[in-house]
Amino acid sequence: MLAFDRDMDVDSPQKHSHIAPRKHDHLWLSDGNVVLETDSLLFKVHKSILSMQSTVFKAMFELSDRDDDDDDDTKSDDDEMKGGSARYEGLPLVRLDGDRGSDVVHLLCAAYERQYYYRDNDATPLEVITALLTLSTKYDFKHIRRDVILQISRHYPMTMAAYEAIDNDKAPMFGEAREDCHYPLLKAVFAAKVDALLPILYYACADYTIDTMIDWWDTLDPACLKALLKGKDMITFATGSLITKLPEDVHGGSIACPNIPSCIGSARFSGFAKFLQLTDLKHFEGSKVVKICIRNACPMCTKVLADRINERREKIWNDIPSFFGFRDWGELWRKLAEDCKV
Ligand SMILES: [Zn+2]
Repeated sequence: MLAFDRDMDVDSPQKHSHIAPRKHDHLWLSDGNVVLETDSLLFKVHKSILSMQSTVFKAMFELSDRDDDDDDDTKSDDDEMKGGSARYEGLPLVRLDGDRGSDVVHLLCAAYERQYYYRDNDATPLEVITALLTLSTKYDFKHIRRDVILQISRHYPMTMAAYEAIDNDKAPMFGEAREDCHYPLLKAVFAAKVDALLPILYYACADYTIDTMIDWWDTLDPACLKALLKGKDMITFATGSLITKLPEDVHGGSIACPNIPSCIGSARFSGFAKFLQLTDLKHFEGSKVVKICIRNACPMCTKVLADRINERREKIWNDIPSFFGFRDWGELWRKLAEDCKV
C-alpha cells in the first residue's frame, strides 16, 4: 500500500501526479520533532540529533524555526507551504528536494545507529557507500563523509605497487565484484567533489570498452565523462609509445650488447598489437612485455629492456594525475589528508 492515511496539513496528493510519500517504518520516531519529506518516504526525526552532525540541517532548522516564529501571529489551519512554515501532523516539515528516500534512509540510519555504518566493513553494500558519500557531502555530515572517503581510498591506493596488489576484477568489494564498483564510485566521488580520489577512479574506469562508457553516457556528469575520455586517450597514447619505442631502443644504439657477436642485429619484435589500446599498466610490466614482444635478444639485453620498460611504466603511473587534470600524486595525497580531517 503506497498511499496512506496522512494528516494533510499542507500538501495534498491530489496536487501531484506521483504517489504520495509514506512514513518510513522505523525512522518514524515517536518523540521526533521534525518531518523530512523525500520523493517516496517521510521521516520523523530529531532536529537536535541531525543538527549536531550536520551544519546544513542545523541551518535549515534554524531558518524553519525563525519562519515559524515570524508566522505565529498569522498562521491559519490551511497554511500553505511558504519558506520553512510547512507542517505535517503539527510538526515542521522539511522537504529534501532531489534526494531519493531510499538514499536518505542510509544517511539517517548512519546518523542514528552507531553500528549501521562502519568504515572497516567492506561488505557494506555499494549503494550504501554511494548514498552516504553523496548525501553526507550535500548535508555536511563531516564524520560520515570522512569515514566513507577513508574506506574508498583504501581500495584505490595511489602507488602502483599497492594498487596492483589489490586490483583483482573479481574480488568482492561492497557486495559486488570489484570491477562493478568503479563507475558507480566515480559518479559518487565526482558528485561529492572528492578530488583526491578522482584520478585513480578515472584510471580504473579507463580500462573499459567503449560499450561500457556508452552505458554510463547519460549517468555520468558531462565534465566527468569528458575528463575520463580525455585521460583514457592520453594513457592509451603513453602505453602505445612505450611499446612502439622498443625497436628504436634496440636498433637505435642505446643498448650495448656485451656479447660477441652482439644480439642486436638478430633481435626481432612481434606481438605489439596485443598491447594497443590497453590502459591498465599491469599489462606493461617489463618482464611480461619482453616475453611476448622480443625474440633473439640475449638475456642481458632482454633484462636491460625489461628494466627500461618498467621505468617508463612508472613514469606513466606518475603522470596519471596530470592526464586527468591534476598536478601529481603528492597534491592528491594532501587533498586526501584534508578530506579526512574533521
Ligand atoms: Zn645482447
